[in-house]
Amino acid sequence: MTALKEKTLHSAAELVEAGLDRGADLGALQRVASRYAVAITPAIAELIAPTDPDDPIARQFVPDARELVKQEQENADPIGDDAHSPVEGIVHRYPDRVLLKLVNACAVYCRFCFRREMVGPGRGGLSPKALAAALAYIRATPEIWEVILTGGDPLVLSPRRLKAVMAELGAIDHVKILRVHTRMPVAAPERISPALVRALRVPGKASYVVLHANHPRELTAAARAACARLIDAGIPMLSQSVLLHGVNDDVATMSALLRALVECRIKPYYLHHADLAPGTAHLRTGIAEGQALMRALHGRVSGLCQPAYVLDIPGGFGKSPIGPNYLNEGGAVIEDFNGRRHCYPPSPHIRHPEALGAKRRASKGDGP
Ligand code: SF4
Repeated sequence: MTALKEKTLHSAAELVEAGLDRGADLGALQRVASRYAVAITPAIAELIAPTDPDDPIARQFVPDARELVKQEQENADPIGDDAHSPVEGIVHRYPDRVLLKLVNACAVYCRFCFRREMVGPGRGGLSPKALAAALAYIRATPEIWEVILTGGDPLVLSPRRLKAVMAELGAIDHVKILRVHTRMPVAAPERISPALVRALRVPGKASYVVLHANHPRELTAAARAACARLIDAGIPMLSQSVLLHGVNDDVATMSALLRALVECRIKPYYLHHADLAPGTAHLRTGIAEGQALMRALHGRVSGLCQPAYVLDIPGGFGKSPIGPNYLNEGGAVIEDFNGRRHCYPPSPHIRHPEALGAKRRASKGDGP
């Protein structure tokens, strides 16, 4: 390990000096780094095998010249956040919850990030005035039951600033759930300090932390201990992972990741199909491959380990589960995990979907 691995690496030159350039030419690395933010923390650098050209951790964090190639279908706002942003920092896509995008910085920058055009060091976060307007929107909208703190990574904030925001949200009667999305326990586990854990707890509200992790090697002893500090303090944890070509798109790796998460008391929540972010085609799989992977997991790893495989529909239409589907022929035939088909009798009480309150919306997502 070089001395540079003791600090976060931000530039192409630092990557070369640390031996993490994977043979790429310096000029290409510099062009990518000037286009999209780069940050590799010591905890992540430690995980990268510099001599492995296919290292799954390097694929997630080390810049690649292919990022400069934008496909026609790729989009700077691939999941359509802007279309649902009534005030700066808020995305209100589903009726009962909002995203509160507090910061645009992260501890590490993932090469496949769907907000890669918005995040980076020095991009700051919400100004005090913008934060006050975002909180005012939440206060004035009684349908909002859940606030999802995201960014960037909200855990780059100091415990003091985080505590202040959590307290503001905690004072809003109709907000019951405070959910924080983060990569910090993996990227910089030491930052999950007792003060930060205390900042996340709000009397009378349920705080959840959702960990973003994509490969079992990310769950080091230090990362596991960081998650345990949160969970032991009464904060339940879920996970979200992104299906990535050459990182976790095989049954053995995905099974190991999901099992490791459950061993850490983290319930796998979402497996995201990778979004159409610019310059990320080399990291995306096809939906059919994702469905085949989910089929292979069904029945072979515990139900506790099963995430929902979802796609954020481009254009801002929300998330939808994308299978695979085990029901055939109008629900009369169901497939088991060995591929055997079984008949299931029709229900004597058939209700129209609208009777269940599942009215379809034209433009606002109804998804999970
Ligand atoms: S931590 Fe999240 S927001 Fe930050 S670069 Fe990675 S995917 Fe994007």
